[in-house]
Amino acid sequence: MKNLAILGATGSIGASTLSVCQNNPELYRVKLLVASKSVDKMLALCKTFNPDYVAMSCPKATDELAFKLSKTDCRSTLVKNEAELLQLIASVEIDCVMAAIVGGAGLKSTLAAVKAGKEIFLANKESLVMSGQLFIDAVQKSGAKLWPVDSEHNAIYQALSPNLQNSIGHCQLEAEGVSKILLTGSGGPFLNKALSEFPSITPAQAVKHPNWSMGQKISIDSATMMNKGLEYIEARWLFNASREQLQVIIHPQSVIHSMVQYIDGSVIAQMGNPDMRTPIAHVMGGEKRITSGVENLDFFSSPEFSFIAPDFNRYPCLKLAIDACYEGQQATTTLNAANEVAVEAFLNGEIQFTQISQLVDRVLQTSKRQSNSSIEELLLIDSDAKNRALSLIRREILC
Ligand code: NDP
Repeated sequence: MKNLAILGATGSIGASTLSVCQNNPELYRVKLLVASKSVDKMLALCKTFNPDYVAMSCPKATDELAFKLSKTDCRSTLVKNEAELLQLIASVEIDCVMAAIVGGAGLKSTLAAVKAGKEIFLANKESLVMSGQLFIDAVQKSGAKLWPVDSEHNAIYQALSPNLQNSIGHCQLEAEGVSKILLTGSGGPFLNKALSEFPSITPAQAVKHPNWSMGQKISIDSATMMNKGLEYIEARWLFNASREQLQVIIHPQSVIHSMVQYIDGSVIAQMGNPDMRTPIAHVMGGEKRITSGVENLDFFSSPEFSFIAPDFNRYPCLKLAIDACYEGQQATTTLNAANEVAVEAFLNGEIQFTQISQLVDRVLQTSKRQSNSSIEELLLIDSDAKNRALSLIRREILC
């Protein structure tokens, strides 16, 4: 039995992970649950899963949870602060870590697990986008086992040869006959909406993904296709893929979760119902297939499959992300930071849907060269980009 830490336990991936744990009680012991502010959700999880440790990043939430836990039989120990949490994640008490905190907030805890050589189930794509080579180097140095959870990257992983699966971060795609990684995406809720209506898109419309049920930030990222852009950068790092080896294809039905094309013309696709419990069960099963609780795909009731090339006028965020990928680390860290601020501002009604890409573009354009060779420097780039994005919103200077 392995001891599991779930970072982002109260979120959508956290819930799917816990559901897979319940389906496979002999495999994992839920040792540590981490979240930010959702006290009542965490309290309910503590009552059900009785973790040894629980942590909330928000101090007020920590106090509130402590009080509420004291009224129950639950004996979970509350982790007091970030330093203690990072130490615990790196300790022998934890074997595996589901990294599912949303956004750059997940970087430090994910890296703590990486540096300690844990088995990492990576959902938090933003940490890899923010730190790219440093993240991959840390994996290499510690010998951590990195499993891609994002459904696309998990699909790609499943379609690769064992040699490539065992060299995540350093794949020699060409040597193994891979000609292209085909990253699929649904195109989100606005695939067929008139562009003239984009400025009036509301947060409620944008969070309503046609196929997947996910947290708010990734749902907005899916609507702008920034999510596919972040995944493009994620794929570049995980599979050591060049520009020629990466292609985005819109597949509105979300049944094919991504594909790998080989030099002999073969294309290997991974398919299934759009439910994150499938990739989560795949990584949690390790070498063995385990039940996920997901219904089998019904081919006879599935709609026809279609494939569309992405239109950058409809999805400017996708272009910004792909361009940033080749510009370098400062650009991808900046893109990610500005996007986080833009998405939050959109959800709060402070900017329009179309201003998300404008804001990210503006922050990228106004970046000054900064050194980016350590995590501390990357965190500075992140906070600097966020400050500039916030100041642009406050001064209402968007194009
Ligand atoms: P949710 O918004 O549903 O959940 C986010 C989780 O992160 C919550 O548990 C939240 O806690 C926690 N959190 C936020 N900030 C902090 C912080 N500073 N410290 C500790 N915990 C924090 O997000 P999702 O589950 O949808 O996504 C999580 C990650 O997984 C993202 O990086 C996303 O891109 C990735 N992913 C998600 C997929 C999905 O289907 N949902 C698919 C593939 C990847 P609280 O509730 O207390 O705020």
